[in-house]
Order: sequence, then C-alpha cells, then structure tokens
Amino acid sequence: MRYSNDRPPVITLTTGPVNAYPEVLTGLGRTVLYDYDPAFQLFYERLVEKAQKAMRLSTRPVLIQGEAVMALEAAAASLITPADTVLNLASGVYGKGFGHWAKRHSPNLLEIEVAYNEAIDPQAVADMLKAHPEISVVSVCHHDTPSGTVNPINEIGALAAAHGAYLIVDAVSSFGGMDTHPEDCNADIYVTGPNKCLGCPPGLTMVGVSARAWEKMKANAAAPRASVLSIVDWENAWSRDRPFPFTPSVAELNGFDVALDLYLGEGPENVWERHALTARATRAGIAAMGLDLWAAREAIASPTTTTVRTPDGIDEAKLRQAARERYGVVFSAGRGATLGKLTRIGHMGPTAQPIHAVAGLTALGGAVNALGHRVETGRGIDAAMAVIDAAA
Ligand SMILES: *Cc1c(COP(=O)(O)O)cnc(C)c1O
Repeated sequence: MRYSNDRPPVITLTTGPVNAYPEVLTGLGRTVLYDYDPAFQLFYERLVEKAQKAMRLSTRPVLIQGEAVMALEAAAASLITPADTVLNLASGVYGKGFGHWAKRHSPNLLEIEVAYNEAIDPQAVADMLKAHPEISVVSVCHHDTPSGTVNPINEIGALAAAHGAYLIVDAVSSFGGMDTHPEDCNADIYVTGPNKCLGCPPGLTMVGVSARAWEKMKANAAAPRASVLSIVDWENAWSRDRPFPFTPSVAELNGFDVALDLYLGEGPENVWERHALTARATRAGIAAMGLDLWAAREAIASPTTTTVRTPDGIDEAKLRQAARERYGVVFSAGRGATLGKLTRIGHMGPTAQPIHAVAGLTALGGAVNALGHRVETGRGIDAAMAVIDAAA
C-alpha cells in the first residue's frame, strides 16, 4: 500500500499544528458575528474569562491575533528596553531564538545554553543571578519542542522572582498538556497557543500578563502601539465596553471557545494525565524496540512530545517519508540544530490518546525496518500496551 503525498495522511502525530478536535472544527463554522454586535462583545468578554480560568490567572489574558511566534516577538518588543539586562536560557531552538529577539531591544544579553537534549539547571540560573545583580529580565522556553525536553520553569521562576527580575515564558507546547500555569512559575509574560495541546488550528495566541508587566510595558515608549505586534493596545479589549484595536479573528475565536469548553469540561487534570500516559507508553515502546530517546533523561522528556534519536546510518527525512508512504502516519522532524538528528512523535490534544502510542510505534518501527535496520517493533508494542493496561 502506498499513501500518496497529494492526499491527507491517515494519522497526524505531529508537534503542531496538530489535528484539531472535531468539535473545534464544528465551532469554526459558527456564525461570524460583526465584532461590534453586542452579542459578539459579550461572547468575547466571556471567552477571555474562560481563557483566564483555564490559565488560572488573576489578570485577564490577552488574545493575540496571530501565531505564537508573533506574540513572542511582541513580548520582547513590549517588555524589553535598552536599560534591561536579559538572561536568556536556551536548551533548544526556541529558547535560543528568543535571545535574538531580546537582543533587538537591549544590547545587554547574557545566556545560559545547554546541550539540546538537556534541561536548564536552576543552580546555574541562581549562580548567574548572583554574579549579575543587573539582570532584570529572564526568558525561558518551557518545553523546547524541537528537543522534546522540559525545563523546570517553576524553580527558575521562583529564582527570578526572588531576584526581582521579570520572567518571560514560552509555554506554547506545554500549556494544556501538563500542569503549567503562569502564576505557578511567577511569569510576567506567559505565551501559549491553542494550536498545540488544546487542539485548535493555528492562528491565535494567549498571553498571560502580570500587573507589573502591564506597568512596565505601558511605561515603555518604544513598546509597539498601533501595530500588529502591540500587546499594550489589547489591555482592555476584553471588556464589552471597549473597542478592539482591529477586527478580531472571529472564526478562530469561535473554535477556541469550543476548545476551552472541551478542556475545562474534561477536567485539566484528566487531560494532562492522558498526555502523560501516551508519552510514557511511547517511551517504554521506544526503549523496548531498541531505539534511543533523544532526551538525556526520562525525567526531562516532555509529556507532549517524544523525541527519538535517529539511528546511525539512517536518513531521518527518509524515515518520515517511509512512515507516511507505507502507513499514512506523519511525524515531525527536528528543527534547526536538531533537524536530521531526531524524529518527533507528538502527543497533543486529540492525539494525546494512549492508543496513538501504539500506532506511532508501529509506523516508526516499520519505517526503520523498511530502511534496512532491525528493530523489534512487536516488543515495543507489548511494552507500550503494558504501560497502558497498568493504567486502565
Ligand atoms: C509551536 C511553537 C511555537 C510557535 O511556533 P511556530 O513554528 O510558528 O508554530 C513557539 N514556541 C514553541 C515552544 C512551540 O512549540
């Protein structure tokens, strides 16, 4: 059997965009209301309150009208000034990339960079803060998706808070799939999107903003205003009595509303548990098959993405191609420094279901064998099923 590239695959096990929940797709088809219709304004106010509840925030989150990269760039432009000294923490491609944005707004950039299969050590952050009392902003990516590894942001956030530094967190691919919230890590700006673990299409971003971050951004004359990169302009847009800076993406907001209902209705703890179980089953299968995890330790492996080290002698692009052609299963590649070195199996939103671990392992093992290597796919499936059944 051959699945052709000009038709959609059977199963998409990527790390974003992910297949949206069917209910979300139905929500996208709701009536597109005029943004100044009172019904829409009330809907928007309630939607922001719902997002606030999901994010467990004491302030209203901002819904940025664009993919998360835009909101991360906006966060750097709004919060960071030339008077700041930024400590950027890089354990992967996204963490490293934020440093480039930070540098546009302040020449004072310090960095801790670890190998991209590792996590940031809070002790190294503590040492850096002690050695550099001038550090005023700390930035960190929670789950650096192209590595599939997770940083201890609650510990890092506690250190930043004790130092009096503002904390910027990229939690795009972790929020909604594990127990993480802006105030748990003392984030001043917490960027996350509905298109990963909440199972929406890409196009929106939620940004948690602390009271003191609002003050700092509003005091920053260089913070974008009357711009798509503006966060400041959206401060009160949640209120039905205030105008929008520009037209909201009505259809995407309709879909997001459904995603929040699904998340809160299922119960966040239950949602996190199925992400964790799917990842655990996948990791057990990878090991039993004779493949290696990319993450240096299980303890730092993400519950929303499993990264598998590419076996020696295998072309990673060919591996993904074989999985798609033979079985109709799509995985994500690495990015930047991890491209070609690993394959990513996403467990996000609708694909965070344990049975998808079995499908992913089967397709991956089959593809490796198709390329002339030998792995014990059956053992991997048995190991995954043992994990799944132990939790049943
Ligand atoms: C997906 C993602 C983003 C958004 O990036 P895109 O490549 O535009 O999808 C930002 N940060 C992290 C950690 C992500 O996983």
